[in-house]
Amino acid sequence: MDIEKCLRRVEEFLRRHDGDGDEVIGLLKDLYQICRKLYDQATIDFLTGLYNRRAFEKQLELAVERARRDRSTFSLILLDLDHFKRVNDLYGHLVGDEVLRKVGSLIRSTMRKVDIPARYGGEEFAIILPGTGFEGALSAAWRLKKRIEETNFGTEERPIHITASMGLGTYRPLENLSARDFLEKVDRFLYAAKNRGRNVIVYESDRTFHEEHLEGLSHEEKKALMEGVRPYDD
Ligand code: GH3
Ligand code: MG
Ligand code: MG
Repeated sequence: MDIEKCLRRVEEFLRRHDGDGDEVIGLLKDLYQICRKLYDQATIDFLTGLYNRRAFEKQLELAVERARRDRSTFSLILLDLDHFKRVNDLYGHLVGDEVLRKVGSLIRSTMRKVDIPARYGGEEFAIILPGTGFEGALSAAWRLKKRIEETNFGTEERPIHITASMGLGTYRPLENLSARDFLEKVDRFLYAAKNRGRNVIVYESDRTFHEEHLEGLSHEEKKALMEGVRPYDD
């Protein structure tokens, strides 16, 4: 049985039997706490509290399965912090860790509740946006890029400013890509964003977007967005 399903079933059972003085129930409660802790350790990144790479890959597989089954779509943002090595070199590894933790909270607070953010590597993050098409994902990616640019990740006395490069892909169920191939494709976009000078979002070249469909951005923001996004060309 799937471990998440099993944990949920045990949780439900314990809720129904809350208050029972039974020895078996007490034992099950203890066992549940231990399993939950082990499960969290295996799936959650300790620094940011986001999903780790392994859990992210599982979520991506599920998103692909769902999109193929329902002929629906979802988007994926891969994000790599620019020149992060400098942060460590200038301020030390512990400060670097603190910046990564803050980036994690910023991603969580900027994205929707249903979105699935993860720490994918050292200073790389990935976000799955379920049910979100290209224009919605582009607005979200741009909003996140802007918030990262504007945030002071240090202190008042010693401000730290960083930027991020992003690859953005929207899954097409009819294209029938595996999770791995889709991930590799979006990773190429991210790589291209680095080559394009960083602090940009690169998206698939055959996508076009209509300003009026960008979500929740003001006219000025839509104009600014044009400066920070590029179609992929290899
Ligand atoms: P680029 O713009 O090309 O991405 O430059 P970069 O310096 O961010 O990239 P590079 O891949 O050369 O280095 C990534 C750095 O991120 C190396 C390492 O110092 C830092 N890093 C990776 N993981 C961690 C971590 O867990 N904590 C801290 N403090 N730093 C980390
Ligand atoms: Mg990197
Ligand atoms: Mg980097």
